[in-house]
Amino acid sequence: MEIIVATGNAHKLGELAELFPAYRLLRPSDVGHPAFDVEENGSTFLGNAIIKAEALFRLVGRPVLADDSGLAVRALGGGPGIHSARFGSEDGRAKLDSADRNALLLRTMADKDDRSCAFVCCLVLCLSAERIFCVQETLEGELLREPRGKGGFGYDPIVFVPAFSKSVAELSSEEKNAMSHRGRAARRMVSILSDIHACP
Ligand code: IMP
Repeated sequence: MEIIVATGNAHKLGELAELFPAYRLLRPSDVGHPAFDVEENGSTFLGNAIIKAEALFRLVGRPVLADDSGLAVRALGGGPGIHSARFGSEDGRAKLDSADRNALLLRTMADKDDRSCAFVCCLVLCLSAERIFCVQETLEGELLREPRGKGGFGYDPIVFVPAFSKSVAELSSEEKNAMSHRGRAARRMVSILSDIHACP
């Protein structure tokens, strides 16, 4: 089965492809929509994932998967949260690269003792305009004081996972997939898909 994924983030698509091995995941550009983009004006991960999934489904009319994810820091009231991708570049300022975004977040958190945070991933699967399945999962961690590790992407180098005594950027992709927010959400979605195949 082919599923069109509502993302332009190549790293995210790669992680999802590993997590949905029984499915052929395609980008919007693979099915003639290279300019697919939609304003993510929801107020939650779930709201934004639904906006992306429904917009892409309206275009392609085939099974669609959307992901909305980010880092929620408790001492920042859950921020940057849904604004994770553009943290530090609001109000029309140029988009920061990951290293600068991470440095800014660590500076913002410099005087905070509560370092708890969670990666959040919401996945929405649209099989038709009316058949929509949603899951949301987390990876709990603690913000480090400085980056560690070279793997992964985004905020991975500044999030420490006590269960592994490593930052997310120090985990192998197998380790990350085994316990990450995206891995957990994807496995739940794969089980929904298997259930749908068994009992359409
Ligand atoms: P989205 O593309 O709107 O879902 O933005 C998600 C943003 O959250 C990304 O650009 C990253 O900054 C951050 N993020 C989401 N998942 C991860 C992850 O697994 N590791 C590191 N950063 C992540």
